[in-house]
Amino acid sequence: METLNHKIKLGISSCLLGNNVRYDGGHKYDSWLVETLGAWVDYVPVCPEVGCGLPVPREAMRLVGEPGNPALLTQKTLVDHTEKMQNYSDAQVGRLKDEELCGFVFKSQSPSSGMERVKVYPSGGGAASKTGIGIFARTFLNANPLLPCEEEGRLHDPDLRENFIERIFIMQRWLNLIASKPKPGNLVDFHTRLKLLMMAHSPVHYKSMGKLVAEAALKPFEAVLEEYFIQLMTAARKPATLSKHQNVLLHILGYFKQDLTAEEKVELIDLIDNYKAGLLPLIVPVTMLNHYVKKYCKEYLAEQYYLNPHPIELKLRNHC
Ligand code: SF4
Repeated sequence: METLNHKIKLGISSCLLGNNVRYDGGHKYDSWLVETLGAWVDYVPVCPEVGCGLPVPREAMRLVGEPGNPALLTQKTLVDHTEKMQNYSDAQVGRLKDEELCGFVFKSQSPSSGMERVKVYPSGGGAASKTGIGIFARTFLNANPLLPCEEEGRLHDPDLRENFIERIFIMQRWLNLIASKPKPGNLVDFHTRLKLLMMAHSPVHYKSMGKLVAEAALKPFEAVLEEYFIQLMTAARKPATLSKHQNVLLHILGYFKQDLTAEEKVELIDLIDNYKAGLLPLIVPVTMLNHYVKKYCKEYLAEQYYLNPHPIELKLRNHC
């Protein structure tokens, strides 16, 4: 993997770091986020409930009313903290713009921080529906629709975890590009390195992004960058499936037509087929291809983010 300029900055619900900010005075320490991902990340902790002035411990709260625009009420005494929370959220989301975050990890199910399926209770009483979004989370997501955001619970799913981590590393590379005050040629270089990764996520975007870059000289460059970023993050969010990976792996194999023996090609195709069949993790054919990339000095492939999208220590491609 290439050397990144500095650690990735991620917003995070403060209780996930082990801070005692929850209503009951406790926390929700997440060991993978802190001890594993934490090696590559500088976290920016946010607890909207403490941030908006509520004490620890405090009465638990819930969302009540219309799922699209609920109130935030204390569970027993029904004190309405909606306005206080909304004002804090607006101001905090504005402040976070300056942090150049590459993403955010939210605490699930919280009426302030939950990203989806948060319980909302009808005003007149009755059973809750799991249709809400925490007030801070909703404000943040509305202001940052393209930023990689996930909940800690969903990150236990290996595919969702890999997709999120890939996106935050893409975001970091994009911010580095923008910080370098790029010219059209720099965007061409950036896109060239991303090609195979984009192909694995969205062949449609892969084509349209290539066209956008090729025609960059015909439009104001600021507008090209803006459009490219939208397409980049939209594509990256799409799942990289077994079939799409298989296509990319076979595409890479095509670069070794003149180099590999017939037996070596058959061996690689077997690995790729076994990956597609769910018998081997992605890291197996990728490791073999990386070996040949070095052995035969394939410069174009050596630069591809697809072959090294994130640190190997995160073991994100090790599952079937
Ligand atoms: S879920 Fe959000 S509001 Fe609740 S303790 Fe954690 S950071 Fe604070």
